[in-house]
Amino acid sequence: MILEKNNDIDFDIDDPAIARDRNITIKVNGHRFRLFFEITTACFGNCNGCSLSSLSRKDSGTAMSIENIKNALDYFVPIINSKKHLRTTILNFGTGDYFLIDDKFLTELFTVINDFFSKIHTVRNGITIPTSLFLSHDKMRPKLELISSFFKKTQVAVEGVIDADKLEHHYDRYMSNYEMISSYLPLFDVALNISSTLTDRQGELFVKFLNEANILNFDLQYAINNTNDYRVKIGRERFEQFFENVYKNIPNYLIDLSVSLPTASHEDDTSIFDEINKNALEIVRERLIIDPNGYIYPLAFGFGDILLTQKYNFPPIGHISKPFDEEEAQKIIADYLKKIFVKNKVCHTCEFNKQCYGTGYAFYNKFNKTTSECENVGTFFFKKLKDGTITIPVAS
Ligand code: SF4
Repeated sequence: MILEKNNDIDFDIDDPAIARDRNITIKVNGHRFRLFFEITTACFGNCNGCSLSSLSRKDSGTAMSIENIKNALDYFVPIINSKKHLRTTILNFGTGDYFLIDDKFLTELFTVINDFFSKIHTVRNGITIPTSLFLSHDKMRPKLELISSFFKKTQVAVEGVIDADKLEHHYDRYMSNYEMISSYLPLFDVALNISSTLTDRQGELFVKFLNEANILNFDLQYAINNTNDYRVKIGRERFEQFFENVYKNIPNYLIDLSVSLPTASHEDDTSIFDEINKNALEIVRERLIIDPNGYIYPLAFGFGDILLTQKYNFPPIGHISKPFDEEEAQKIIADYLKKIFVKNKVCHTCEFNKQCYGTGYAFYNKFNKTTSECENVGTFFFKKLKDGTITIPVAS
């Protein structure tokens, strides 16, 4: 079938089966290319588990000028066009609330994006934008109209973030805002921002919300928030119990966007370093972050996983002023991961080490200093994979 570019692809938007097509973290066999930009950190929400500091959330400025965004996008046009096998290009925007950006900037941004989409060969091109789900309808409506005037419904995925700690008191507010947004843009994902005060009740309410709102994709933002240095840690056991309860009660078509699953090829004879090299290559070919100064970094997961940048002493893997060297970029990422592995002795004997270092989780490993136990949320899924409770989805 030949698809007309950006055309509404032939699917029922409310069909659970499309959750799989929309999933941004499943293995896509290199058919999708993602670029992540962090243009705003401003947010009206105040989630306890947020990866942003309160200072960043109050910063209402935009981190990148339209010109810089345009330059970065232009840089990737020939790169994308040289990859003939690509079918989809996604621009992920993080990490603040994009409904707080003023209309003039958004209008220019969307114009530049559509210009970019018109220059690349991929047939399906879309954007993802996060919002706190805490703004008033009056504030959101004009933005939704603006977005809808630039993009087709199937081109925009909104990620609404729910603070687990506020879910009980603000359930109706979250639901009403979800309904409001999805009446314009039905590709809606919901992220639960988890903090150390995690309770079973929050899990129950979240499941209720997913069911009542008929959500197709969700995201438990914990792995991602391992970038939050000042949060209080949650023990692995506590966290896995929470996951277990949520997973037991959600419809089976739901896909967790925060899951980064390893590729199927964890044969016994592959070494951990082979897995690391494979993961590094996959990142370089599929998902990158461009910072406000034009430096290119790897994207470990998908939505909202920022700050593998200067904060983590991660060296850039390129700059938009120079040709992108995939081989060199792969080497930098792999070397970084190998250093993490060498340092963390517990990983050497961990039964999940290949899966962990073959996915985005290893970037954010945190260890409890007293017990030497890692906090890696990935282990929940690795166990499930091992016992066959879940299987690796592969996009067609
Ligand atoms: S799950 Fe934990 S111990 Fe195992 S490899 Fe990952 S970080 Fe290391």
